[in-house]
Amino acid sequence: MLKLKPSCECCDRDLPPDSQDAQICSFECTFCATCAGDRLAGLCPNCGGELVRRPIRPPAALARFPASTERHFKPSGCEAAARQVS
Ligand SMILES: [Zn+2]
Ligand SMILES: [Zn+2]
Repeated sequence: MLKLKPSCECCDRDLPPDSQDAQICSFECTFCATCAGDRLAGLCPNCGGELVRRPIRPPAALARFPASTERHFKPSGCEAAARQVS
């Protein structure tokens, strides 16, 4: 089951469970669409895997299986990835 992390690892922007802007890799490293596209070129800086849009959990399911509230802010990983891309 997805954890639905609450924020972007690169910029710490809030990504609520119903956000269309959340992007995740297969390990559920979580980024906003801006960081995933502009800074990371669609690749996770932690594992190198592809980033895809996180599916929205329907509200009824979210009530039974709430989203994670644990933030994972790791800007250093994102800067390393940005240097490789540029
Ligand atoms: Zn971001
Ligand atoms: Zn990853």
